[in-house]
Amino acid sequence: MARYTGSVCRLCRREGIKLFLKSQRCETPKCAIDKRPYPPGQHGQGRSRSKPSEYGIQLREKQKVRRIYGVLEGQFRKYFKTADRRKGVTGELLLQLLETRLDNVVYRLGLSGSRNQARQLVRHRFFTVNGQRVNVPSYIVKQGDTIGMAKGKGEKAPIKSAIEASKGKTLPSWLAFDSDKIEGLIQTLPAREDITLPIQEQMIVNLYSR
Ligand code: SF4
Repeated sequence: MARYTGSVCRLCRREGIKLFLKSQRCETPKCAIDKRPYPPGQHGQGRSRSKPSEYGIQLREKQKVRRIYGVLEGQFRKYFKTADRRKGVTGELLLQLLETRLDNVVYRLGLSGSRNQARQLVRHRFFTVNGQRVNVPSYIVKQGDTIGMAKGKGEKAPIKSAIEASKGKTLPSWLAFDSDKIEGLIQTLPAREDITLPIQEQMIVNLYSR
């Protein structure tokens, strides 16, 4: 399946929440969901919709999470299977896998304005994990891993502007960041309470368990 290339703001309006898919724009009054808080399309405004089924609600929750992390359906299902095989709460393990993707960690460290941009920068070999260049956005980091800049990349404009924009923002407690070295550390794996996104992961578990 091809990656979605349409307007990302449409996706936020479809899900009815901010998914933060663009850089600084998401935090400004220009945000499309603030200006047009109704679903996209000619029937989005005004027309009452019938009550969604339980399946419909579960499906929307799964789509929302896929869109937040920018993961295609096949890959998302693989994450679910992996989480389901592990010991623990499947929904929480699924979110932990998504959070520990390298592109998400780059975004969480404030080295990109969005997960989409992080994905591009990783593909362009901007980052290292434990000193080795990694260009796979879905690479799963582990506790104790360090995320650094490849030689010369820390001086590039997208990194400088992302660091500038993220000043004053709180870093998740499972990460540490050394701004002098431009280096992040995975202190621990993220726990459920570290993931503050409005996600009801049990709905996704129920959907895939049908
Ligand atoms: Fe979503 Fe950001 Fe667009 Fe707002 S500006 S609708 S949060 S992608």
